[in-house]
Amino acid sequence: MPDNIRKSIIKLQEKLRRESKPANIPFEDFIIQTGKNPPRILRNIFQLFHDMIHYYVGGGFNEYPNDPESINYIHYDTGKLFVEDSDHPFFADRLLANRLVTLADSLHSGAVRNKMLVFVGPPGSGKSTFLTNLLRQMENFVQTDDGAMYETVWQIDVEKFGLPYIPNIIDWEAIGFKNGNEPKLGEAEESVLKPQNKFLVIPCPSHDHPIVQIPKEFRRDLLNEIITDTEFKKILFHRKEYEWVFNDSPCPVCSSLFRALESRMSPAEILSMLYARRYEFSRKLGEGVSVYNPGDKVIKDPLGNPELQKWIDTLFRSSNEVKYTYSRMAKTNNGIFAIMDVKSNNIERVINIHGIISDGIHKVECYEEHINSMFVALVNPEDMDVINDEKSFTDRVIKIPIPYIRDYTTEVAIYHNAYGGILDRYFLPHVLTSFAKVIVASRLMWDSGAVREWIEDAEIYSKFCDRDLLLLKMEIYSGNIPFWLTEKDVKRLDRIRRRNIIMQGNDEGRSGVSGRDSLEVFNSFFSRFRGRQYLINIQDVVNFCASEPKIKDKIPDGFLDSLVNMYDYVILQEIKESMFYYNQEQIHNDIFNYLFAINNDIGNEVECPFTHDRFSVSEDYFSTTEKRLLGEKATIAEREKFRNDTLRRYVAKTIHEGTSVKKMINTAHFQELLRMYNQNLKENVLDPFISNDNFRRAIKDFGTEAFNKYDRRIVDEVQFLIKNLKFKFNYTEQGAKQICIYAIDRQLADKFNSET
Ligand SMILES: [Zn+2]
Repeated sequence: MPDNIRKSIIKLQEKLRRESKPANIPFEDFIIQTGKNPPRILRNIFQLFHDMIHYYVGGGFNEYPNDPESINYIHYDTGKLFVEDSDHPFFADRLLANRLVTLADSLHSGAVRNKMLVFVGPPGSGKSTFLTNLLRQMENFVQTDDGAMYETVWQIDVEKFGLPYIPNIIDWEAIGFKNGNEPKLGEAEESVLKPQNKFLVIPCPSHDHPIVQIPKEFRRDLLNEIITDTEFKKILFHRKEYEWVFNDSPCPVCSSLFRALESRMSPAEILSMLYARRYEFSRKLGEGVSVYNPGDKVIKDPLGNPELQKWIDTLFRSSNEVKYTYSRMAKTNNGIFAIMDVKSNNIERVINIHGIISDGIHKVECYEEHINSMFVALVNPEDMDVINDEKSFTDRVIKIPIPYIRDYTTEVAIYHNAYGGILDRYFLPHVLTSFAKVIVASRLMWDSGAVREWIEDAEIYSKFCDRDLLLLKMEIYSGNIPFWLTEKDVKRLDRIRRRNIIMQGNDEGRSGVSGRDSLEVFNSFFSRFRGRQYLINIQDVVNFCASEPKIKDKIPDGFLDSLVNMYDYVILQEIKESMFYYNQEQIHNDIFNYLFAINNDIGNEVECPFTHDRFSVSEDYFSTTEKRLLGEKATIAEREKFRNDTLRRYVAKTIHEGTSVKKMINTAHFQELLRMYNQNLKENVLDPFISNDNFRRAIKDFGTEAFNKYDRRIVDEVQFLIKNLKFKFNYTEQGAKQICIYAIDRQLADKFNSET
C-alpha cells in the first residue's frame, strides 16, 4: 500500500476513534460526577429544553434598563436557535421570542408537566420550519457538554451467570478491525456485540435517567450525602421542578431486570453492572426526538430486540423474567414527541397522547410505561376542533401562537436574510421599514381595545399617526416607546397596559399577507425599483402597495397616507437635529460663553475658561445670543433685564455649584438656559427650508464645483447638515441630498408647523 494512502487511513482511524462514543460510565463514577455538578446532571427533558433555549438565545437585551414599568418584554436574539447554519431559517418576532423564553422558564419550574404544547399557526407562517429548527438544535445541544443528558445502560457480567462469554456473532478480525477499532454500529447490533464479550449490554429502551434506578426510598439520603452545594440541595429537595428525581420509576424493562438480578446477587453486585451513558437524540433514528407526519401509520405493536431477548433468556434461564419489550413512545421518553399537523393518522396520535398525559401511564401489552416526554403538536387554526371539542383536553394544552410576523423589525430581517445585506444600499433610511409596516398592518387587528384604553385622545397624533394607531402599536411590539408620544401618554403606559397590549398580540398575525406571500411581494417590489437612479423612497412604497393586489385590500383605508405622514414627521426631526445650531455641543458652548461674557464689560476681548473660545464682548454679541435664548422679538429692555437677572443668579449660586464643566451643565440654571435655547431653536431652525431658494439650489449643487459659489453661511449650513445626516442618521450623501430636496419640495416644515 502506498505510504500516502496508509497515512490517510491511519488519520481516518484516529478521527473515527475520536468521534466514537465516550465509554459507559460506571454508576459509582456517575454518582461522583453528580455530586460535583448536580444541576447539569440531574435534568429531565423540560429542564433540558429550558437550558437549551437559554444556551442559544442568551439573556436578551433590554433597551430601557431603568424603566420601572418594564414587563421584561425584551429583545432576544433567536438567530443561533433558528437562523444560523440552517438551510431554511425561521424568524421569530419579538412577541414569539418572549413567549418562548417564558414557556421555557415555566417548563423548567415544573409548573406545566403533563401538558401538550400546541403551536398554532396559519398556513405560510413557517411553523414546520420553526419546529424542524428547534428540534435540530435540540439534537445539537445534547451533543455539547452544556447539554449532556444521561441514560441507563446495563452491562451484565455473564460470568456471574455461569456463562463463559457471549459468542461472537460477527468476526471482527475477518472484516479487518482490531478490538477497540470497530466502526460505529446501529443501535440494535451494538447492544449485543461488544468486543470483550464478557458483558451483555442492555440499554434501557425508555432512556431512564440513571438516578431512577436507585430505589426511591434511598435516593434522598444518597443525594444528600454526595452533593456538597447546600444552596442547590435546598432547591433539589423542595422545588417542584425536581420532584421527578424522587418520584419517577424505572421502566418495565429496567424494573424486571433489577428484580431478576436481585434474586441472584447482592445489591453491590447489581450496582456494579449499572452504567450511565450519554443520551443522544436522533430524529433520524427516532431516539429522543420523533416527528410524526399525518401519513405515518400508527404502530401499536410493541417493539423488541429478538437477538438481545435470546441472550437475556439464556442468561436467566427463563423466557418470562425479563421481557425486552417497549412501545414507540418509550423511544422518546425523556425526549420530544412531535406531531406535524393534526390531520388523518395524527388525530389518533393526539388522542392517544391525551390519554397518556391524563394518566401519566402508557399500557404496552400487560406492562405500564410511565411516559415523561415533551409532547408537541403543530396545528392549523382550523384543525383545533380535535382539541377544543373536549374540555378535559383543553385543560391539558398550552397554546402558543406561531402567527405571521407582527413586529416590523423582524419582517425587515427576513428581507435582509433573503438578499444577504445588499438591501440598504438601495433604500433611503426608514423606507424598507415602511414597506414592512404595510405588511405588518395587514396582519394586526385594526381596532385594538388595549391601545384605545391607553390613548385617551388619539386626535393629537393625527398629523402623523394613523387613525387606528397601528403605527403606534407596531412600535410597542418592536420594543420602542416612540419619541413623539406625549409625556402623559408615556406615563400612562404602565405595566398593566403594556401587558394588555402584548397579550392582545397573541390573537394577531392569523390573517393578512402570509409569510410566504410577503417575501414574494417584496421580491417584485424590489426588482421593480432597484434599477432607478435614486434611492428607493417612501413614494415608491406607497405607489406599489396601493396597486399590488396581494396588499391593497388588506390594509385599512388611509393607512398609506399616514405612513407617509409618519415618515415625513420622522425625517423632519432628523433634519432639524442636523441643522447647524441644533447641535448640543454648540449650544453648550454658546451658553458657557454667555455666562462668562455677562461677567465682563462691553468692549473686552475675552477667552472663556470653559470652552477656550476667544471673542469680543459687544452689543452685537449680546443681541445675537440673547435672541437665541429669548426669541427674535425680545426688546432691548427685556434683554437687559434678562442679562442682569442671569448675572445675579449666576454670581449668587450657579458659580458655586458649577465647579467643573460637567457640574456646571448639571446646575438648574444651566439646564433652564438650555431649555430656553432649544425651545427657540426648534421654532426657527427650519427657516432656510421654508423660503430660501438659494438653500435648495445649494443642496442640489452639493458635491459639485457650483456649490462653492454660494455665500459662506449657506455653504457652512449645508455642509453641516449633510454631514450630520450621514453620521447621525446613516444617510449616504446621495440619500441626504434626496431627503432635503424632498423636505423642501413637499414643504414639510409648513406641514408640521404647529408641532414645532
Ligand atoms: Zn429502563
